[in-house]
Amino acid sequence: MENILKIGVVGCGAIGREHIKRVRDKIAGAKIVAVTDVFEGSAQKAAELCGARIEPDAAALINAADVDAVIVTTPGFAHAEPVLQAIAAGKPVFCEKPLATTAADCKRIVDAEVASGKHLVQVGFMRRYDKGYNQVKDLLDSGDFGAPLLVKCTHRAEGVDDSYTTAMAVTDTAIHEIDVLQWLIGDVWASAQVIYPRNTVNAHEGLKDPQLMLLTTKGGIVVALEVFVNCRFGYDINCEVVCEDGVIHMPAPSWPTVRKNGQLSTKIEDNWMRRFIDAYDVEIAQWVDSAKRGVVEGPTAWDGYVAELTADALVAAQTSGKVEPILSGEKPEFYNK
Ligand code: NAP
Repeated sequence: MENILKIGVVGCGAIGREHIKRVRDKIAGAKIVAVTDVFEGSAQKAAELCGARIEPDAAALINAADVDAVIVTTPGFAHAEPVLQAIAAGKPVFCEKPLATTAADCKRIVDAEVASGKHLVQVGFMRRYDKGYNQVKDLLDSGDFGAPLLVKCTHRAEGVDDSYTTAMAVTDTAIHEIDVLQWLIGDVWASAQVIYPRNTVNAHEGLKDPQLMLLTTKGGIVVALEVFVNCRFGYDINCEVVCEDGVIHMPAPSWPTVRKNGQLSTKIEDNWMRRFIDAYDVEIAQWVDSAKRGVVEGPTAWDGYVAELTADALVAAQTSGKVEPILSGEKPEFYNK
């Protein structure tokens, strides 16, 4: 592999084009050489952005001799096949979250990667690259605060459209906390429960909103996550870790505090892309760097599988009203290397 990583992109919708622009504008040492999309218009727009050629389908793109590594940004239901094809071709693959939309498909990917003997798959859980989460993790890892006991989080959004379902509060929204919190506190999920408070009048018909999701770890840490996607005031991500010897509250990217009309106020971010823009930049830059070295340093296929199992347990808890177990099994030794 020469020093420029030549990337092929499968799926050229919203986030696919964002990553293409990111590689084009912000990352030295990588370029997009090929793109593909089932919708020709999307492939065309993406190709124009970066001067890449259009391949007829994922298999042709992944197996092209000049494609060193692959980015998969199709909708989640179409992730598994290109990721499996990239593993078969022995090429590093960055797959947007979720790794796949069923735990069985995630497990197929894990098994294929382990059988290949090479670390190839990274999942797009970009919050692990966010400065605030990393500052909290550094403090936790310093040991100065003692063991974490309880984590209180919010994942609030201004509003959602009518296609958003109660289950998507888990699969589209809480999925980020599912991954980042397990990484943050260094423990393994054990059980999931969902409690519905009084419903907001701002939710569309049939949508349960807000929801309180409770996750416990094997070590007994409890996470209380409020998902409230019609909060009306902004995109409001908070995380507070209560430890034996103190409390750590995650900082948000700052806005000026202003004095006007008799009020002292600070803006709340209203856009998820802007809130995590720096995290996406670091994520893709580090993936390019590690793909060149033939390693995976970000969230692995195993992390993607565990996230999907955890999401399944939360979705089951939404309807059962019970505490549901999360049985991820033993992590293969391959992922401890
Ligand atoms: P999107 O705008 O719908 O883009 C997906 C594109 O892939 C569409 O152009 C779609 O074409 C195309 N496509 C569908 N099936 C395909 C296939 N088999 N082969 C090639 N292309 C195919 O979706 P998006 O918002 O970019 O989301 C893409 C993925 O990124 C999702 O998994 C999503 O969860 C993830 N995402 C992650 C974050 C994050 O915070 N990390 C944020 C946003 C999105 P059609 O329109 O014709 O179906």
